[in-house]
Amino acid sequence: MHYLDYAATTPVPPEVAREMLAVLTEEFGNPSAQYELGRAAMIRLDRDRETVAGALGCRPEQLFFTSCGTEGDNWAIRAALHQNRRVGRHIVTTAVEHSAVLQCVKALEQEGYAVSYLKPDSTGHITAEQVSAALREDTALVSVMLVNNETGARLPVEEIAALLADRPALLHTDAVQGFLKVPFTAGSLGADYITLSAHKIGGPKGIGALYIGGRAKNTLPLLYGGGQEAGLRPGTEATAQIAGFAKAAALRRQCLEETWRHLADCRAYAVERLGEIPDLCFVGRGDAPHILSVSLPGYPSQNIVSELSGKGICISAGSACHRGRVSHVLSAMGLDKKTAAGTVRVSFGPETTREDIDQLASALLEHRRTRFPML
Ligand code: PLP
Repeated sequence: MHYLDYAATTPVPPEVAREMLAVLTEEFGNPSAQYELGRAAMIRLDRDRETVAGALGCRPEQLFFTSCGTEGDNWAIRAALHQNRRVGRHIVTTAVEHSAVLQCVKALEQEGYAVSYLKPDSTGHITAEQVSAALREDTALVSVMLVNNETGARLPVEEIAALLADRPALLHTDAVQGFLKVPFTAGSLGADYITLSAHKIGGPKGIGALYIGGRAKNTLPLLYGGGQEAGLRPGTEATAQIAGFAKAAALRRQCLEETWRHLADCRAYAVERLGEIPDLCFVGRGDAPHILSVSLPGYPSQNIVSELSGKGICISAGSACHRGRVSHVLSAMGLDKKTAAGTVRVSFGPETTREDIDQLASALLEHRRTRFPML
């Protein structure tokens, strides 16, 4: 198999799986329990929180485990609006956010919030000036992602944070695709809320984290229940998933520079090999090293994906979350219909080899040679 869809999800390395197995079968105590097994689980939980917080460059008490990135995004948005309820009911976001943000703010529109959706340029970029122009007296929240999951565009979150420093609007950034892929820390970004998800960095699915810091205070609990996660996100902690998240973050951190170099090499090699395919064009200006978006205009991406799947090559059409619908990101970038419909996303991870990319290049070339384009 040639897996080239690391932006959708990643395999869990054996070291991570082993760590999780130990927690599931041996260190399985409930961290709230008062006997030794429980206390050991609590000690481990604290250590795992420190590890993930260390990778983000924040204090452990600023990091709250969630069930996924989607939950982190929804919670951050609701919490920021609750804190700023007296500021107003206007939200600034972008038209290229992940559905976890877009669908959440769409639901808020139904509740009476006004939302400004910033449009990207043709490369998928948004500027801090656009954010500045959209701000209003009653803007309570700005939510701008760090790295786009379809194009790999890295958005200027630091500049936006600086812009908001003397304004009441709080800043949320979805850093699910940026965490341990592009250099940043909670401090360098300056956002009040930062969403993470484990399964994009070699951790298990079903676990994420939300950083709550900066100007965020008196956070609205996501759920009501026991006192876990400082009473803000109660529920017995998912200790095995958390252990997997921490181990994955630690492993990535150990060889960060090396992994970045490897991802950048993979991307450069893919640009070279795919660039040899007649009519193929590159979509957007991906800054992140692990994502490359390309199009064979006129060749529907669904057909490309399924034909390549038959050859054991896994890539996705635009974004894995869209399942056949035209991507909102590509339409917002103003791509013509044929180019948008022919766009596929290729994404790389530490395990990617040149052989994977060679196989992809020949399969795409073969597709282009043997199929008729749509007129
Ligand atoms: N945000 C971005 C940018 C993503 O790419 C994803 C996953 O594809 C998510 C949020 C959602 O994360 P999760 O799958 O953990 O809910």
